[in-house]
Amino acid sequence: MSTHVDLAVVGGGISGLAAAWEGERRGASVAVLEAADRPGGKLQTSSLAGVPLDEAADAFLARVPAAVELCDELGIATELVAPASVGAYVWLDGRLRKLPPDQVLGVPTDLDAVAAAGLLSPAGVERAREDLTRPDDRPRGPDGEPVDESVGDLVRRRLGDEVLDRLVGPLVGSVYAGDCDRLSLQVVAAQLAAARDLDPAEPSLIRSVIALRDQAPVGERPLFLAPREGMGALVGALVDALGDAVRTGTAVEALVPEGTRWRLAPTDVTAGAVVLTTPAFATAPLLAPLGGGAAEAAAVIGEIDHASVALVSLAVPRDGVEHELDGTGFLVPRSAGLLLTACSWVTTKWPHLDHDPSLVLLRASVGRDGDERALGLTDDELVARVLDDLGTTMGLRAAPVEVRVSRWPRSFPQPRPGHRDRVAAAEAALARSAPRIVTAGAWTHGVGVPTCIRTARAATARALGATTGA
Ligand SMILES: Cc1cc2nc3c(=O)[nH]c(=O)nc-3n(C[C@H](O)[C@H](O)[C@H](O)COP(=O)(O)OP(=O)(O)OC[C@H]3O[C@@H](n4cnc5c(N)ncnc54)[C@H](O)[C@@H]3O)c2cc1C
Repeated sequence: MSTHVDLAVVGGGISGLAAAWEGERRGASVAVLEAADRPGGKLQTSSLAGVPLDEAADAFLARVPAAVELCDELGIATELVAPASVGAYVWLDGRLRKLPPDQVLGVPTDLDAVAAAGLLSPAGVERAREDLTRPDDRPRGPDGEPVDESVGDLVRRRLGDEVLDRLVGPLVGSVYAGDCDRLSLQVVAAQLAAARDLDPAEPSLIRSVIALRDQAPVGERPLFLAPREGMGALVGALVDALGDAVRTGTAVEALVPEGTRWRLAPTDVTAGAVVLTTPAFATAPLLAPLGGGAAEAAAVIGEIDHASVALVSLAVPRDGVEHELDGTGFLVPRSAGLLLTACSWVTTKWPHLDHDPSLVLLRASVGRDGDERALGLTDDELVARVLDDLGTTMGLRAAPVEVRVSRWPRSFPQPRPGHRDRVAAAEAALARSAPRIVTAGAWTHGVGVPTCIRTARAATARALGATTGA
């Protein structure tokens, strides 16, 4: 016997669960079909040294309200905690240097402070200062309107190579495990794009960023939040709320038209509307066989590159670390040549996880766009290489008492310059030939958890609107 629902959601990561939640709130009957044997996708929390520690995402941006709002709706907003505001380090010239608090995505707002902290060479500071007097040089299309460019193009042009390689690159690149020279400014550094748009007559990036910061001062509000028990608590609350609607161990292989409905083959589920929240490389093969605009969309979606990462989480004796753990952790620029890309000092960043006075918890990241060395290593080799890099950077001298390796192959979609226009064209092509199938997920409008939630809820509204003509 078939199961008929109003809305089928393919993929049970945060995008899929948020889409289903939105569907139910709009009164639709819903089924979520998830290939893995557990829901949550890249949100996964498990225990290390007796505390709940995230295996991938460990916090969400509070400034984009969608995640906080969802937690509120689910009744878990009171369980949100903020990381300690103790600053972070960057590995430069063979030592860890504290990042200045006065920066936006690595663009310094106080060049004297950056110079004093030794973050840039004197020549690098002078080159950055040129931004204040350089004429407008933003790239424009044939119609004279500004066009998207890479983060690297903007920052190198305005502030010079050092600011990109030593400040913006490590910060922005780490969010996408990407290479700033190949990442879309609009998608990846929306704050910098917004700063530029504030006053199109203002050529200076530094002054634009200061104007943006002054317009919405951060004040006492935390920048990031997370559930006390880890991001798995958000997944758990959604799954509890959705109940039987979530089916795990159920991979969708094809969308088969049946009258005015779609069957999610090989299952017996048929739906009036479908939200695809699968990664780009899993979405394209579902759309391509449908032909027409869906195949056009598939061609665009299938071209999106992905970076692979792995996280090595460690419990180590507190007295086995030389560097004082007085920050949330540190970032490693691409140019340093280490395997390590970042390390989170978990027990400093999240004081509620600091239970054992004899241990500290660390989360070391490896892998980024163009660096797949970790993929070829066994877990033992990977841990040994990470321990070497942690010895070099933060003076880790003791053997870990507990280790966990979390591998995330092809986990970070890479939005290249012009990504937003290409996704809009793909969505329009799909809407032309299959208006009741819509796409969401990290590859569409950005990887951040709040953006995924916002995108998925909007996509659900579109899909259900197409079935009712609303
Ligand atoms: C290591 C790491 C750290 C991160 N840190 C942060 C952070 O701190 N803050 C933040 O905001 N973001 C962070 N992110 C990004 C964020 O976690 C992800 O972008 C987001 O969770 C993606 O959610 P999603 O639902 O779109 O995709 P996914 O979580 O990938 O979910 C897609 C789901 O689709 C399923 N699927 C695939 N094919 C099929 C099929 N054919 N049929 C059915 N199901 C299928 C998959 O099994 C998967 O569960 C991080 C990501 C990683 C990898």
